[in-house]
Order: sequence, then C-alpha cells, then structure tokens
Amino acid sequence: MSTHMLWRGALGPLTLALAVTGADAQAQTVTDIVVTHSGMGQPQLASREHFTGVARVFPMFAAAATSGARPSGGIVSFDAGARTAWHTHPRGQTLIVTAGVGRVQRWGAPPEEIRQGDVVWIAPGVKHWHGAARITAMTHVALSEAVDGKVVEWQEQVTDAEYAESVGRGGAATSTSGTVVAGAEPSAAQRLMGDIAPKLAQLTDSVLFGDVWARSGLSARDRSLATVSALIAMNRPDQLRSHLTLALQNGVTPEELIEVITQLAFYTGWPNAVGAVGIARQVFEETRALPRKMP
Ligand code: MN
Repeated sequence: MSTHMLWRGALGPLTLALAVTGADAQAQTVTDIVVTHSGMGQPQLASREHFTGVARVFPMFAAAATSGARPSGGIVSFDAGARTAWHTHPRGQTLIVTAGVGRVQRWGAPPEEIRQGDVVWIAPGVKHWHGAARITAMTHVALSEAVDGKVVEWQEQVTDAEYAESVGRGGAATSTSGTVVAGAEPSAAQRLMGDIAPKLAQLTDSVLFGDVWARSGLSARDRSLATVSALIAMNRPDQLRSHLTLALQNGVTPEELIEVITQLAFYTGWPNAVGAVGIARQVFEETRALPRKMP
C-alpha cells in the first residue's frame, strides 16, 4: 500500500498544502488528533497473490504509525466468494465483523460462520483463513500487532474445494433461496423442489447461485438491489421474501429497501409497492432489522 496516498487521505487538502513545503513543515502538520473521515482515501484492491476473488482493504493505522504506534490493521470488504489465503499472525489477530456473513476456519478444524457484530480472536501462529460466504459479502475490521515489522505470514491459497466445503456448512445463506451446498446440508433449492424437480434444483444451485451470483462483475449488494427490484415489479411475493432477507445479508439496509420500494411505486404501480411493504415488514420483524424513521 502507498503510505503517501494514505497521508493525503488522512490529512486532507488544507494540511496537504503545508506538507508540500518541506520535511520540517510536514512534521509540524502531524497533529495530536487526526480524523480520517469516512470515504477519504482510496481502498486498495487486495493482492491476487494472497486473496481469491475481489476484496478491498482500507488501512486504518497510517496516521497512528507515524507516531510509532504498533497496532496494525484495516477494514477489509470481501465480495461474495472472496477470501484470504491460508496465513498466520505472529501476535494473533482480532476480527470484528461489521457487515454481512462470512466464514473463518482454522487449519484442520471445521469452518465457523461469522456475521455482523461477531468478534473473532485468532491466536498467534494459528494457520487460518477468513472471507465472505458464497453469495453473501462480508466486511470486517482486522486488528493485529507487528513483530519485527511483520503482521502476517502468507501461505497457500484456499482452494475452491476447501472453500466449497466451508460454505456448505452452517449457513446463513441456506436460510434463503439458495446457496451452493457441497456439504451434508441440502440447499434451499434442494429442500424446495429437489424431490420432484431435481434438475431445476441443481441448475439453481450450480448455475444461478454457483455461477451468475458469484461473478465479480457486480457486487452481491448490487445484484440484490437488481433482483429485489425485478421481483417487486413482477409482484412475486414468495421470491421477494427470500431476496429481501438475502439483500439484508448482502449489506443493503432496511432504509434502502424502503427507498427502493417507494421509488418503484412510480414505475411498477402502487399495489406492487404496497404489497412489497407488507413483505418487507415481515422480513424486518423476523430479522429484527427495523428501519429508522426517514423524512
Ligand atoms: Mn487473519
């Protein structure tokens, strides 16, 4: 990552003007309190060498490092299906999941599902990976401490087979209309129609959710917005129910879903929108994701 870029983001345009006048002046711009505002600075695309799929890293300690502080870490957003390679941390690592649903797995142990609000501690030297679920994006804050300047020892990539096994267990995604399940638990499509329409269930899992939804061309969040909009327009309450739940898991907020429904009243008709509000209310109550009052 470019420390220089981070400085620009952290300091903002006013102090940047001072900083370019020389090293002494730059030292004076190091203030006791540095607020890096949300949205400042550019996320770095996570390296292909150590990640599979699309993940973005927002470093958090660029300003702290200039005072010699030892914490290290960043905010890491994994698109659906993205994950780290296997790795260890010399002083361990704390993960705080801030959005979505994902997995963390220790070498030789079953994977664990992690969701928004969960806090994960990984002990020093423990080989592990973390990342998003198959059709659900995940964001976490990652905190660690450097030893001799190193915070991580990278190892081999998590193979598709290892990942497929991990996302098939437990499962947030299995509670909605479909995740690819390579493990013992049947997918939602299998449960819904595997007995009388096995080919359709298999196509739903392998093509719709295993391929189309997993493509990196759109984020899972954007795919959810498009899908929810189409289902409202077509007035398909059963599928809408599943996809509203999935949209919440993919990081769309309840307020945003209500905005979508409100806008679509003008494009798809008032009855469709009112029907969608009723389903959204049930989904919000079931998932305890109540929207704030909006003006
Ligand atoms: Mn880690």
